[in-house]
Amino acid sequence: MKRIAVLTSGGDAPGMNAALRAVVRVGVSSGLEVIGVRQGYTGLIEGQLQPLGPRDVASIIHVGGTMLGSARCAEFRTPEGRKCALQVLEQNAIEGLVVIGGNGSLSGAHALSQAGYPVVGVASTIDNDLNGADITIGVDTALNTALEAIDRLKTTATSHQRAFVVEVMGRSHGYLALMVGIAGGADVIVIPEVESDPDNVAAALHDAYVRGKRHAMVVVAEGAKWNATALATYVTNHRDRIGFELRATILGHVQRGGGPGAFDRLLASRTAAQAVDLLAAGKSGVYTALVKGLISALPLERALVPKPPPDPELVRLAQRLAR
Ligand code: ATP
Repeated sequence: MKRIAVLTSGGDAPGMNAALRAVVRVGVSSGLEVIGVRQGYTGLIEGQLQPLGPRDVASIIHVGGTMLGSARCAEFRTPEGRKCALQVLEQNAIEGLVVIGGNGSLSGAHALSQAGYPVVGVASTIDNDLNGADITIGVDTALNTALEAIDRLKTTATSHQRAFVVEVMGRSHGYLALMVGIAGGADVIVIPEVESDPDNVAAALHDAYVRGKRHAMVVVAEGAKWNATALATYVTNHRDRIGFELRATILGHVQRGGGPGAFDRLLASRTAAQAVDLLAAGKSGVYTALVKGLISALPLERALVPKPPPDPELVRLAQRLAR
C-alpha cells in the first residue's frame, strides 16, 4: 500500500484533529502518502482531496473540531453515492481509507468495506453510543465542558436558592447526562433509556427544598421525552410550589467545542495510529477504540448494532447519591 486517504464524518468531536495528525504522521513514518478528504463523505463523492504531510498537521493536536471539516451526506447512504466515492478513490490511486467518526460514519465505512474496499474506522463521537467501545474520542472533553457549566450554574443557583434544569447532548443515549449528573451532583437525572415522570422530578425538587438545600440540579439528556424546556414548562405550570425558582439552561453545541483534554488527545493518537498500522498491514473492515481498557480493533458490523442502555448500577448510584 502506497497511498491512503483520511476523512472525518458526522458530528465533530474534540480530538478529531489529534486523530488526523496521528494518521498523517504515523502514515508518513510507515512510508505512506496520506490524502485528506474535506467535508466527510460529501467531499469523497465530490473529490475534495488535499495531500497532507507532517507540517500540514502541525499545531492542531490541541485544537477542537476538525481541520478537514465534517458533513452529513445523504447521498453516501445510497449505492450510487458510494459508487461515486469508490470511483474517486480509484481514480486517485488511493488504496485504503481511514474514517474517523461515530456509529453513522462507521456504518458508512462498513458499507464501503462490504463493497471490497480496504477501510478502517476510528471511534470518535461525544455521544459515546458506539457499540463495543468503552469511551470514544471527544467524550471526556465534552463531559468536562458540561461539568464546568454545571459547576458555574451551581454557584449562582446557591446565591438565589434556585433549581436548574440543565440539558446536555444525547439524542438517543443518556451517557453524557448520566455521567455529568453523577459528577456534577445532580438531584435528578433524566435520560431516554429510563422512563421518567415530571411529577416525580417536581416532588424530588420540592423534597430537596424542604431538606434545606440552597440549590437543586436536574440534568436532562436532549433526547429524553421530558427535555429541559418541556420539563421546566410542566413543573412551572402544573405545580403550586416546588420551593425553588426554576430555570432551564440548554448547553447545546458548547459541549462539542473547545480543545481536547489530555485523555482525548492520547486516545485519538493511539487509536488513529493503530488504524493506520492495521490498514498498512492489509486489515480492513474494523474500527479501533478503547475496549475493556485496551486499544483494540472491532468488526465494523458492531457499529450497526445499537449500544445497550447504561449500566443500571450507575443509574442506581446516581439516585443514592442524590441526598
Ligand atoms: P455523531 O453521532 O457523533 O453525530 P455519526 O458518525 O454517528 O456521528 P451520522 O450523521 O449518523 O453521524 O453519520 C454521518 C454520515 O455517515 C451520514 O451523513 C452518512 O453520510 C453516513 N452514514 C450513516 N449511516 C450510514 C449507512 N447506514 N450507510 C452508509 N452511510 C451511512
